Amino acid sequence: MEIQFLGTGAGQPSKSRNVSSLAVKLLDEINEVWLFDCGEGTQNQILETSIRPRKVSKIFITHLHGDHIFGLPGFLSSRAFQANEEQTDLEIYGPVGIKSFVLTSLRVSGSRLPYKIHFHEFDEGSLGRIMETDKFTVYAEGLDHTIFCVGYRVMQKDLEGTLDADKLKAAGVPFGPLFGQVKNGQDVTLEDGTKIIAADYISAPRPGKIITILGDTRKTNASVRLAVNADVLVHESTYGKGDEKIARKHGHSTNMQAAEVAREAGAKRLLLNHISARFLSKDVSQLRKDAATVFEKVHVVKDLEEVEI
Ligand SMILES: [Zn+2]
Repeated sequence: MEIQFLGTGAGQPSKSRNVSSLAVKLLDEINEVWLFDCGEGTQNQILETSIRPRKVSKIFITHLHGDHIFGLPGFLSSRAFQANEEQTDLEIYGPVGIKSFVLTSLRVSGSRLPYKIHFHEFDEGSLGRIMETDKFTVYAEGLDHTIFCVGYRVMQKDLEGTLDADKLKAAGVPFGPLFGQVKNGQDVTLEDGTKIIAADYISAPRPGKIITILGDTRKTNASVRLAVNADVLVHESTYGKGDEKIARKHGHSTNMQAAEVAREAGAKRLLLNHISARFLSKDVSQLRKDAATVFEKVHVVKDLEEVEI
């Protein structure tokens, strides 16, 4: 499982940072890629990666500001142009209005897609668990921005323990139905009377990963709730230390506030994105250093950077 950052800039693109989008790559887990936000130029950024648009099965939108959604019509149209590849449906999750935005841009531009889009819109009253499959659950909660904006908590379900086949073979269990029984957690007795305790041959279940991806927001308790015990928290850092007042005014956070959220939530790692073009590279390293005084495991991400979860 990896997160690849497609755009890490705030508000408008700069030479080094495109506007918001990131991909959660779940290829090993479910052979899918999920996009979170889709700012203008996201499809161009994808060209620089190994991501195949057809593998993008779900898109989650945090809020309807242009720097987070203007890439949708272009991405959706290009996704249709993958000749002789199977056309697969796509799900879009986002605030009420996203469906109208997408359908209007497609209709006005005369774009016809050879695949279906299923929209899942929500407002303040319909948040909580917004998606569940046998492997993942996704929760959304409202944040505190200048318009309705959410954060997402992606929870992988616990992974079953795996059978240690070599150890089982060494214990004298012949390959066949007995193997299957042990794999299903059943104790068995061999012909010579040896008792095989299934639990000794199956590794303990592994806890699933938790990824928290927030939209633009002031510091708020909802962010902490979404990030409790997260393996990774992706948090905006539009402003730097000392800019708390102006950050509040514009509905954003500073690096220090993001670090406080990570610390309060007990997150394992903090990745800062939504970086203003005002910050030059030496300022960016200062952003990290300052935040690290509050929460040590912090990193400011770059466009196209890939982080293993
Ligand atoms: Zn933004």
